[in-house]
Amino acid sequence: MMKYYNISKSNYHLIMSGDGNVLVSQTYAIDVKCPRITEDQKTEITRILDDILPFQSGQSYQYQEQTDDYIYQKYKDNVQKGWPVSKSYLIYKILARENVHHSKTPSFCPLCERYDKGERTEKVLHHQSILPYQRKRYMEDKQRIGKGDIETILITQDFTQLDLDSGFIQDLIICCYWHNSNSKDGLARDYRHFVGQKGVKNDVSFVAGCWKELLKETWFDRASTVLIWSDGGPKHFKISANLKLFQAIQMEMDSIHWEYHFFPAYHGCNVCDAVASQAKKKMNEESRNLHEAIKTPEKAMEKINKLANHQAIPAQISKIALTSDTLSQLTRYFKFTAPINEDNIYAFENSYCTDFAVFWEISERVNLEDL
Ligand SMILES: [Zn+2]
Repeated sequence: MMKYYNISKSNYHLIMSGDGNVLVSQTYAIDVKCPRITEDQKTEITRILDDILPFQSGQSYQYQEQTDDYIYQKYKDNVQKGWPVSKSYLIYKILARENVHHSKTPSFCPLCERYDKGERTEKVLHHQSILPYQRKRYMEDKQRIGKGDIETILITQDFTQLDLDSGFIQDLIICCYWHNSNSKDGLARDYRHFVGQKGVKNDVSFVAGCWKELLKETWFDRASTVLIWSDGGPKHFKISANLKLFQAIQMEMDSIHWEYHFFPAYHGCNVCDAVASQAKKKMNEESRNLHEAIKTPEKAMEKINKLANHQAIPAQISKIALTSDTLSQLTRYFKFTAPINEDNIYAFENSYCTDFAVFWEISERVNLEDL
């Protein structure tokens, strides 16, 4: 005996008339008591959680007390009960109740907003002073490569979450640029995805395992300088362990000069964001057009690999923890180097500085092979 659906009249009314519910499909699953959440709704929820929330929540999304999965499930469950898919619903009905802070900022950066309101604390002023340098330096590096600098490779990296039908997985996106005189803007690009299995955390072991894999490729040899850029993700990038990894990379690839640069807080990597949304869009399209559920990381990679310039492979996770000397006040600095034949990691106040501000002596250097 088939059960259809068992929703109350008032809920049905809510679904059909609610703000964000133009997307709700009228098809119901057999044996399921409530309307199925549609692919469009899922995409929209993910977009809100991934792209809007991290900026507008007023603090890094990673600092929330609830896990991403929990927030997502809660959001999804409520949408299934008939609540609208909308930003304000998420903010006022879910985040507020879960104590995730939200600031009503029109600009996406809470520090810039505090500056606009007249705050002149050290933190806010430092943020303002660093912004123009980092933005400009990144643009200049990219343009210089476009104009014919064949010696430099520019790399940006960031994590994104992919939403499979079976839950979230992590994708470390590494975007590589180098000069190509045949392309319009003078740049060749390669978007690499390192896709983790379900339940694998986006921590520094993830980053380390994937870099170890990436460095096996020979194309780095074409450059004498590699510039890595990332946001200051406090869980995986702007931490002592990741800089120890960076030092290990420098030691392993010692014919290349490596620099690690950070974007200012809340002003992350647009390229990686765009690459992430291309991948998500492709997965959605394919899933919809082919009526095919994407349940495994392998399936996700298959879809991403259909995109030009994108290449997805399974993430390798380092088995050894990168325990680390703590590099004190690390977050104050925005450029790092780790010269070969030295044990030191040098920190610079911004990416234009040629004189270091501080350095730390690393007592136990990591060997990439051991990771
Ligand atoms: Zn800002």
